[in-house]
Amino acid sequence: MTDVHDAEAARWNYRPKGPVGLNPLFNWPPRPAAVLHWYKGAWLPLTSLTLCMVLAVVAYMTFFPALETMQTFAPGWMFRIWLLNMVPQILVAGGLHWWLYMRKGQGMYKKFDRRDLTRGNGTFTFRNQVLDNIWWTLGSAMTVATIYQWLIYWAMANGYAPVITWAAAPVWFVIWLMLIPMWSGFHFYWVHRLEHHPKLYKHVHAVHHRNVNIGPWSGISNHWYENTLYFTTYFIHLIVPSHPLHLLFHAYFQQISPVLSHSGFEKLKAGETDAARAGDFFHQLHHRYFECNYGTSEIPFDKWFGTYHDGSAEATTRTRAYKKQMYT
Ligand SMILES: [Zn+2]
Ligand SMILES: [Zn+2]
Repeated sequence: MTDVHDAEAARWNYRPKGPVGLNPLFNWPPRPAAVLHWYKGAWLPLTSLTLCMVLAVVAYMTFFPALETMQTFAPGWMFRIWLLNMVPQILVAGGLHWWLYMRKGQGMYKKFDRRDLTRGNGTFTFRNQVLDNIWWTLGSAMTVATIYQWLIYWAMANGYAPVITWAAAPVWFVIWLMLIPMWSGFHFYWVHRLEHHPKLYKHVHAVHHRNVNIGPWSGISNHWYENTLYFTTYFIHLIVPSHPLHLLFHAYFQQISPVLSHSGFEKLKAGETDAARAGDFFHQLHHRYFECNYGTSEIPFDKWFGTYHDGSAEATTRTRAYKKQMYT
C-alpha cells in the first residue's frame, strides 16, 4: 500500500516509515544480527537508557547518601532521596518542554502530532495541560516514588533486602542492570492492562489519558492510585539481589524515560543531525487510539495478545472495532 491511499498518513504530521518495530529477541527463528542491532540502537546512541544510566552513576557518586545512614528513618537522607527524584525530573522535563514547545527549537521536525498542547480546556486540572501535567508529575508521582524508595533503601540498609557489591558480583551487577528495562516493561504491561479495565480507567487512568496529544510533562502525569501501582515495580529489589545503583537506575528509567517517550518528537535535532532518540511512536499510538499497544516494544506482549498497533490504517480500523466491542 502506498502513502497516497494510506488514511493513517493524513492523521500525523510525521510518523516513522514502515511498521513500528518490536524487539526481535522474541522472533522465531532467531535473528541474532537483528537482536544485536536492536540493542546497539538502544544503548549506543544517546537514548533514554543511556541518559538514565549516566544520571544514576552521577547521582550515586555525588549526592547519594551512604547506605549505613539509611538504617533509621531520618530527615537528612530522606530529603536527599526526594531531591534526587525531583531535580533530574524538573531538569529533563522542564528542559525538553522549554526547548520543544516554548522555544520551538526544532519547529515541527519529527513531531508526530500536528496540534500544539492544550490551554483553556476544562478537562485538565487548572484548565491547562502543562500545569496539570506538572502537578501530577511533581506532586503525585514524585511523592509516591520517593516513599517507595525510602522503604527499599531502609530495607537494604538493615539487611532485610539482599544487597550485592560490585566487587563480589560484577557479572550479575551488569546483567541485572540490563534486565531492569525488561522487567519494567513486563510489569508495566500488566499494570497498564489492569488500568484499562473500564472501572479503573474512568476514575484513575483517565488522568494520564487526558493527554491525547502528549508532551514531556505527560510522561508520568498519573493519578495517585495509578502511581501507587505503577511504582510497585521497585519492590523487585526486595527480592532480587541488588545494589543501590540498580534502584537508582530503575527509578530514573521509570521516571525519566517516559518524559522522552512522551515528548511528541521522534528525534532531537542538534544542528542538522538527529542527536538523540526521544519519542516513541509505539506509545504515541496508545494515546491516540487507547486500546492498543499497552506495553512497550521491549517485550512484544501486544503482538502475542493481539493488541499490537503497527502504525498502519488497518491497525487503526481494527483497534476502533475492538474498542467498540470492549465498551458495549
Ligand atoms: Zn493507557
Ligand atoms: Zn502514556
